[in-house]
Amino acid sequence: MIIAIDGPSGAGKSTLGKMLAKEFGLLYLDTGAMYRAAALTVIKAGASLEDRQKVAEIAANAKIELTGEPDSMRVLLDGEDVTAEIRTPDAATAASVVSTISEVRKIMVEHQRAIGESATKGCVLEGRDIGSVVFPNADIKFFLTAKPEARARRRFAEDQAKGRTTSYEKTLEEINRRDERDVSRSDSPLTIPQNATVIDTSELDLKDVFDLMLEKINAHRASA
Ligand code: C5P
Repeated sequence: MIIAIDGPSGAGKSTLGKMLAKEFGLLYLDTGAMYRAAALTVIKAGASLEDRQKVAEIAANAKIELTGEPDSMRVLLDGEDVTAEIRTPDAATAASVVSTISEVRKIMVEHQRAIGESATKGCVLEGRDIGSVVFPNADIKFFLTAKPEARARRRFAEDQAKGRTTSYEKTLEEINRRDERDVSRSDSPLTIPQNATVIDTSELDLKDVFDLMLEKINAHRASA
């Protein structure tokens, strides 16, 4: 079973994706972590994010691995643990820049398909192009969204809990800038995939969203 979860940042994709993976014993693949790791290699190599050819070359040679259970997932870049490093606001911004490069997307998509297809019981993948490009024939597709203010509030609370110094205004600004880049890029822009169930999580509790998703998945399983 392939479950695709797409949507803008801060809509709850990771938390809910992990919950679903655990519920059904599926592999969990955070595709954003892969773009973040690719961006980090470029930064570490001292290359400019604007040098599209160089960025693609570096990304093609990077070995990105995601290991462990959903709640304790580690991201390895050429064997080095970069789990914490890829979560900084700078890495997020850099990821949204490198993800506009078609050659980079091609490499990531191939890698994601291979991981999803090799998962014996199936896989929950979350990102921006899962239901539209990576697995257009996914069994179930969700598009989670929320008002930018609600997403910024959540992201800000997460950052604060992790001891990062930032402000709500700055977080909102970053979210808006990333959204703009994700929806306006020419290759695989963020869109609602065909046949996706759209859930606006602005006013909903996590449990409510999870129940809605479970309902949808169980209905699919019953009819399959
Ligand atoms: O999901 P996350 O915020 O970690 O993703 C970081 C960035 O990677 C996003 O802002 C987006 O630009 C890019 N991304 C993408 N396609 C995906 C996943 C992430 O373009 N499938």
